[in-house]
Amino acid sequence: KPPIIVSELATRMGLKPFRLLADLIKLQVFVAPHQAIEPEVAVKVCEMHGFTFEREKREKGGGVHKVEEVVVEPEAPLDEPEDLLQLRPPIITIMGHVDHGKTSLLDYIRKTKITAGEAGGITQHVAAYKVEHEGKPITFIDTPGHAIFSDMRARGADITDIVVLVVAANDGIMPQTLEAIEHAKKAKKTIIVAINKIDLPTANSMRVKTQLAEKGLQTVDFGGDVEFVEISALTGAGIPDLLELLALQAEVLELKANPKGNARAAIIEARVQPGRGATASVIVETGTLKVGTPFICGPFAGKVKSLINDRGEQIKEAKPGTPVEVIGFDEMPNVGDELVEMDNVRAAQKLADERQLDLRNSRLKMTQKSRMEDLFSNV
Ligand code: GDP
Ligand code: MG
Repeated sequence: KPPIIVSELATRMGLKPFRLLADLIKLQVFVAPHQAIEPEVAVKVCEMHGFTFEREKREKGGGVHKVEEVVVEPEAPLDEPEDLLQLRPPIITIMGHVDHGKTSLLDYIRKTKITAGEAGGITQHVAAYKVEHEGKPITFIDTPGHAIFSDMRARGADITDIVVLVVAANDGIMPQTLEAIEHAKKAKKTIIVAINKIDLPTANSMRVKTQLAEKGLQTVDFGGDVEFVEISALTGAGIPDLLELLALQAEVLELKANPKGNARAAIIEARVQPGRGATASVIVETGTLKVGTPFICGPFAGKVKSLINDRGEQIKEAKPGTPVEVIGFDEMPNVGDELVEMDNVRAAQKLADERQLDLRNSRLKMTQKSRMEDLFSNV
């Protein structure tokens, strides 16, 4: 069999030889581009770039069988195969200036969509809830405010799909309205404007839209592309239109996730509850979270002991876009961290130990650094 030369292999994968050399060093193989590597090593470096390494028999002139290496691109793309993806509910965050009606709006939607007879009713606090509008599910994060939005994004849990910007029609754009616009724009989120308190005699939605246009948010009736609705969180006027708009926007965004893969969920709230230990409200991002699933979440391991939905009912599993309370954390997780399904408890614990060691080491380095700085600042 002919030798497998590094530079030739690189060419077959469309890579520069030094790329492969760097990967080979990671595999503890130290060679020059013109040198040969073992087939087992070739298999590994090919895998690192999404290729399969095969030695294939090919007919070459004169009936001589020549064995040569081919790298074959994988047939299935590395991304989620399209047919495994299913539509999921949009995840909505409500933002706006204080007292413009964020809490009232969230309460109104939850109150009208969830009947009082259901287990738990709506008396208990939830971090997020899911409602259905004409058969189409919509998930709301029930913690208004910008802090949670940016905190979560800072930690990598960028789960919001659409931002509903609440602006009180009697008050107009205020500092926190501008802040919300900035956050949403920076995060490249779709913004839908809800002009609230239209029941008030002093309401002036024209003024709100003019102010928005001045800030670069042109509503559709001003020739822009920002959808808006006039609502009253007090009387409920316009709220069905808002829900309709959100459902439509979700269709436009074609939000999909694979409910079959490993489960991943974002922590949106965490607390310690008597009798339950550390619990967290999560929104499932992909896969299906099931009772009994071992997981890792930041530096902590855990296993799903029970799942409670937004109506206080015990459920067995939660699909993408669904908010759910998870019981079974070893310790209280961080908001914005991700819960990731693991194959077994041992693997989860091992990873948790590794992450905690890393954390301790980096904290140690920080303290040493600040001690050194103290030392020198006193000189
Ligand atoms: P948040 O700070 O944005 O969460 O605002 P709240 O939901 O707490 O509302 C602030 C005040 O505005 C409360 O007194 C509400 O009752 C009142 N409010 C909220 N929405 C409306 C509305 O559509 N019409 C009227 N008239 N009052 C409202
Ligand atoms: Mg509020």
